[in-house]
Amino acid sequence: MNTQFSCVGCGKCCNDHHVPLTLTEARAWAADGGQVIVLVEAFLGNGLGLPAQQREHAERRSCRVPSGSTEAYVAITFAAYNVGPCRNLDEEQRCRIYERRPLVCRIYPMEINPHIPLNPQAKECPTQSWEQGPQLILGGELVDLELAELIRRSRQADRDDIPTKTAICALLGIRTTALKGDGFTAYLPDMTALARAIDQIQAQPPEASSQSWRFHLSGEDIASQVQAAGAQVVSDTPLDYAFISLRAA
Ligand code: SF4
Ligand code: SF4
Repeated sequence: MNTQFSCVGCGKCCNDHHVPLTLTEARAWAADGGQVIVLVEAFLGNGLGLPAQQREHAERRSCRVPSGSTEAYVAITFAAYNVGPCRNLDEEQRCRIYERRPLVCRIYPMEINPHIPLNPQAKECPTQSWEQGPQLILGGELVDLELAELIRRSRQADRDDIPTKTAICALLGIRTTALKGDGFTAYLPDMTALARAIDQIQAQPPEASSQSWRFHLSGEDIASQVQAAGAQVVSDTPLDYAFISLRAA
């Protein structure tokens, strides 16, 4: 499949998009006065929540943690919390931090997850941006080698950062996850506390995390499966997080 693309600078991808950040970018976002959202999902050691075709990708970007009498694998995303326009978007729809914008901003509209093919219909970019410019994908392959390198770096940061992000969550008391495919738990940590936690963990790299995690599920059927696997399930109303369900209503 061939796809051509040229960004028309409409700024839509800078509105209402939580932009995944590397740990270094999250620290810079905090220093700039921005808010980070922490999104958590996990699968179980017995494979519950793990799509078979995504095993390698999911395992490499997750951290093994205890839950109840079993083990879970948490994947944690730190993202710029963008409700409405990004704080760095100016009136002309230009990025104020263009030279140091996050990796994911440089990669859009390409996907980071190797299992998600680029689907122009699922992207914010208007039709005209797909009807002009150089070939983005030729014969199913990404043409731009610099862009391919940015995607590689983003995936690598995801893998490298996960032990540190898990330790930061432990410091912040973040310990409830969703089951991968069922939803996410979403936290909006105090940014001074998050910055302090990043600095503390980076000054003294973490050992394997011993914090026990709990699962928040979308319904009783899936909760009973997770519980039967030995993991801890919460049934109380969330106080410090929101549960984002991926299950069709
Ligand atoms: S940092 Fe810049 S490129 Fe990234 S979402 Fe914000 S305004 Fe857009
Ligand atoms: S939505 Fe697409 S066309 Fe519009 S600014 Fe973002 S990358 Fe460019």
